[in-house]
Amino acid sequence: MDVNRHPGDATKGPEDRFSGDVWLWPRIGATRNAEVRNVLFTPGSRSAWHRHPAGQVLHVTEGVGVVQSRGGEREEIRAGDTVICHPGEEHWHGAAPGTFMTHIAVTDGPTEWHEHVTDDQYAFGEALIQPGSVHLPPGENAREAVGHEQGDGGRGADGLD
Ligand code: MN
Repeated sequence: MDVNRHPGDATKGPEDRFSGDVWLWPRIGATRNAEVRNVLFTPGSRSAWHRHPAGQVLHVTEGVGVVQSRGGEREEIRAGDTVICHPGEEHWHGAAPGTFMTHIAVTDGPTEWHEHVTDDQYAFGEALIQPGSVHLPPGENAREAVGHEQGDGGRGADGLD
């Protein structure tokens, strides 16, 4: 048995693989077949399109984010949600517009990186999540940190509740 009490050093996600500021730090390293990392997405940041030939599991630990499979709808993901990216399924993941999102990523094998997710793909005409609709615990108010105006507190009328 190994108990890893100290996560590794955080590194910034490289610009050719992420849009915006994204931070990654390992939980367990290359001594296992699966790589386990924490990934912190700042508001509006996201990965580029990519695929994991052997699949990936994402477990959201904080905040609100967005995930999309190529050809599919964007889906809101929240703390407690787990996303299974099937082997070879092209996708991206990132933070919602007005909040941070942290997930644990368990990745088998290498990742194939493709083009960036454009602002139009990210916003897709209208916001999936209104900045004012994101409710965070006290002390984690990302809207204040990034200067978004306070909304009406509702989740909007887009039927995504
Ligand atoms: Mn992925």
